[in-house]
Amino acid sequence: MRRASRARQLRSARLTARATTRSSALRGLFAGALLAAVLAAPSGLAAQAVPAYEPLQIGPRERLLVIAPHPDDETLGAGGLAQRVLALGGSVRTVAVTAGDGYVEAVQMRTHKLQPEPWAFLRYGERRIRELQSATHFLGAGRIRLELLGFPDGDLLPLLAAHWGRLNPQRSLTTRREAPPYPGVKDPGLSYSGHDLRASLVEILKESRPTLIAFSDPIDQHPDHRAVGLFALLSVSDFMRKRPGLWPRLLAYVIHYDAWPFDADGETTSRSEHDPKYGFPADFPERDQTRSCLTLTDTELAHKQAALGEYRTQQSVMAPFLAGFVRRNECFSQNRELDASFAGRELGQSDGGVP
Ligand SMILES: [Zn+2]
Repeated sequence: MRRASRARQLRSARLTARATTRSSALRGLFAGALLAAVLAAPSGLAAQAVPAYEPLQIGPRERLLVIAPHPDDETLGAGGLAQRVLALGGSVRTVAVTAGDGYVEAVQMRTHKLQPEPWAFLRYGERRIRELQSATHFLGAGRIRLELLGFPDGDLLPLLAAHWGRLNPQRSLTTRREAPPYPGVKDPGLSYSGHDLRASLVEILKESRPTLIAFSDPIDQHPDHRAVGLFALLSVSDFMRKRPGLWPRLLAYVIHYDAWPFDADGETTSRSEHDPKYGFPADFPERDQTRSCLTLTDTELAHKQAALGEYRTQQSVMAPFLAGFVRRNECFSQNRELDASFAGRELGQSDGGVP
């Protein structure tokens, strides 16, 4: 229980600080309305008591695209899945949307300043990029293709509304940049706008033509995770508009939700992978989506744990939280074509989508 309480405090502090320091009530309200519309329309939000889940089936030569809001989410949410796809002859591509350069409390701790300078956040982002590269290399034995988009950590939800257009980009409240400042990003010419994030993801979909897409769940409680979930659905909708063929499977993973990944009694690692009570947060809305879980092998679990060990900046501030994801089962809510189509209709009406 102590372990769970500590982790809950850390997670809560992280979310609260972000919410209070870096998002205005107005922006949150507007994006929140969009989110509510997307989530409510297809199926409602009726929570059910412990829905069952099924084993996640992975075919040979799948093409997996993992979309992560921050460095470490790709490993927390889909580190086992990535290994399994590679082992079955498939390919894996990871896209980190931000460099994690908006973690105010961590940079405050490192600099011993209440208001760190923008350069301190940039140095922090650079360090997290190196950790991401190291963890990715370890997880895939050098076979995972990694890309960083470099969007502003903590400021993604406003891109859906207030900063949609290229000419009115979001300005990071930590790095003070309006475009990716890091060398090696996929497109240094993009602006911090919803249009450009959507276009970047569509471009990646065209290049990778995934059969599986793992992305943060649009009802995750972290604003960046919600935004990335919606942008993922929106870009898939764009991508599939002129391709009436086979849809990729849309696998949403959850990272921040109430006490998750801890259960009420604080236990995480000893749960049976066959017990549907422990694959998702308690009371997590089912939304008529299929729930699928991958059972990790000993080797996959060990590699996932080791890859998370590469994130030293995060281990220093939230080790118990990260350790809570080193568990036998890696579970996903399988979004439907309808979810993506609806996101595309509701969020993409203004300019007709990205061709
Ligand atoms: Zn995250």
